[in-house]
Amino acid sequence: MAAMALKITINSNPNTNGVLAPPPNKLQAHLLPSNQKIFGRRVLGSTPLSLKRSKRNWHVPLRVSSSSQSSASNPFDVVIIGAGIIGLTIARHLLLSSDLSVALVDAAVPCSGATGAGQGYIWKAHKLPGTDKWKLMMRSHQLWESLAKSIQLQSMDPLEVLGWKKTGSLLVSKTADESAMLRRRVEELSQEGLRAEFLSTNDLLSEEPELVLEKEGGAAFFPDDCQLDAHRTVAFIEKGNRRFAVEGRYAEFYHDPAIGLVRPENSCEVGAVQTSKTTLHSKKAVVIAAGCWTGSLMHDLIKQPDIELDLPIKPRKGHLLVIENFKSFKLNHGIMEAGYVNHQSATLKATASDLGPVYNAQDLSVSMTATMDASGSLVLGSSRQLVGFNTEVDESVINHIWQRVGEFLPALRKESLEDLRQSGEIRVGLRPYIPDGKPVIGLVPGFSNVFLAAGHEGEGLSLALGTAEMIADMVLTNPCKVDPAPFALLGRCFH
Ligand SMILES: Cc1cc2nc3c(=O)[nH]c(=O)nc-3n(C[C@H](O)[C@H](O)[C@H](O)COP(=O)(O)OP(=O)(O)OC[C@H]3O[C@@H](n4cnc5c(N)ncnc54)[C@H](O)[C@@H]3O)c2cc1C
Repeated sequence: MAAMALKITINSNPNTNGVLAPPPNKLQAHLLPSNQKIFGRRVLGSTPLSLKRSKRNWHVPLRVSSSSQSSASNPFDVVIIGAGIIGLTIARHLLLSSDLSVALVDAAVPCSGATGAGQGYIWKAHKLPGTDKWKLMMRSHQLWESLAKSIQLQSMDPLEVLGWKKTGSLLVSKTADESAMLRRRVEELSQEGLRAEFLSTNDLLSEEPELVLEKEGGAAFFPDDCQLDAHRTVAFIEKGNRRFAVEGRYAEFYHDPAIGLVRPENSCEVGAVQTSKTTLHSKKAVVIAAGCWTGSLMHDLIKQPDIELDLPIKPRKGHLLVIENFKSFKLNHGIMEAGYVNHQSATLKATASDLGPVYNAQDLSVSMTATMDASGSLVLGSSRQLVGFNTEVDESVINHIWQRVGEFLPALRKESLEDLRQSGEIRVGLRPYIPDGKPVIGLVPGFSNVFLAAGHEGEGLSLALGTAEMIADMVLTNPCKVDPAPFALLGRCFH
C-alpha cells in the first residue's frame, strides 16, 4: 500500500486558482533581476512598492489534508523557509560549517521583509547585561566583527562590502532622570568590559556638534558600537551562499511561498516542504525563519491534537526616512534617544501587570534614531505600531519622525521636508514582534527535525549571526556556544 502523507495544501489562492505552477528552473532562480532585490524599498515619487507588497496573497490560510505522497523532486539536507537576514545567515552558517546541502525558499526576495527596512545598528548601548539576550547578542556581535575583519584580511573594504562602520553609538538623554539612568548604564556596561563614558552637553559640542540638548541632557557614548547596511550585507551573504550552488549544495527558490509541510502519518519527522511550485525534500531538517509571518504560518502548518500552539509573533510596523546624498551636515556617530529602550519594550510593559503601561501598543510610538549610512544618506527613524500586515507609507508617521528628530538635531528644521523627500525614500518594514521580547530559536515540540528562528523584533540584524550559529549547531547536534534554553519554544509557545 502506498505510504500516505499528511500534506498541508493551500486553501484558496485567487492567483493560482489551486493550480500549482511548474517547478522553477534553479538557474533562473539564481539569476533574478537585481531590481527584484530592492522589492521592499520605496523610492519617493515612484510607484509605491509597498502597495505591490500589500497585494501579496501568499500568506493565506492553509488547510491540512491527507493525500498520497507528492512526487519526489529536489532533495536537500536542509530546507529553510524565509530568506530574510535570519534565513540567509542560517544557510550561510550551514554551508560554511558542514557539508550539508541547503535550499532557501522565500515568498518574495530577501530584502522584501523587515530586513530591507533595517537601520543597521549593531549596538550594545541599549542592551542590558544579565538578560537572556545579552550572551546571544555578545556572541552575535563577536561573529559580525570577525566577519568584518575577515573581509579586510581578504583585501576588501568592510564599508564597501557590508556598509560596516565602527561609528560608535550615542544614547541621548533630554532630562535629568534620563541622564541619571544613562550614567548607571555606562557604569553597568563598563563593568562588563565595554568602553563607555557619559558625555555632558559641553562634551557633545565637539563630539557631535549638531546634537543640541538642554544642560541637564547628555549621552552615553559607546565608541565600539557598529552599524551595517542591510542591503549590502544581504547581497554579500547571497553571493557567498551562491558559490555553493556549483557543487550542488545550494539553491534558492524565490517568489515561491512555502505552503505546506509533508510528513508520513503518525511520524514526527517532516520529509518535505511543499511550495507553490515544487516539493523540496528535506533529508535532515526544516528551518522556519519567516519573520513576522512565522506565527500565522506555523499556526496553519502545525495542527496536532495533542499540541496547543500559541506562537504570538506579530508584525510591528516601522517607518524610516532616508535622505540620500545629504550634504547639510555630517553625523559622527549613530544616535538614539534614551527613551528608545522603553519604546522597544513598550508592549512588554503594557502587558506586565506590575509595571503599568508605558505606551499603548496599538498606538504609534516614535523614538528618535539618526545615522549616516555607508552611501552618505541620512537615515532617520523610527516608529512602532501594531497595525497588522499593512506596509503602506503613513504620511503622519513620517511627520512625527521629522518633528521628533528636529528636537534633537535642530539644524534639520532649516530644511524643507518636502524638498528633502525628492531625493529620498521611505522604508517600511514589519518587525517580527513577540510579547516576551525574546526570539524563539529551537526545535518545534512534537517534531524531530523542524526548527524555528523568529521573533527578533528590532534586533534581527544584530542577533542574526548568533542565531544562525545556534540553529546550525542544533541541526548538526553540536553543543551550542550560547545556552539556547531561554529561547526554546516549550513553555513559551507550546503547552
Ligand atoms: C524600521 C526598522 C528598523 C530596524 N532597525 C534595526 C537595527 O538597526 N538593528 C537591528 O538589529 N534590527 C533592526 N530592525 C529589525 C530587523 O530588520 C528584523 O529583526 C530582521 O530583519 C528580521 O529578519 P527575519 O529574517 O526574521 O525577517 P524578514 O526580513 O521579514 O524575513 C522573513 C522572510 O520570510 C518570507 N516569508 C514569509 N512567509 C513565507 C512563506 N510562506 N514561504 C516562504 N517565505 C516566506 C518573507 O518574504 C521574508 O522575506 C529594524 C526593523 C525595522 C522595520
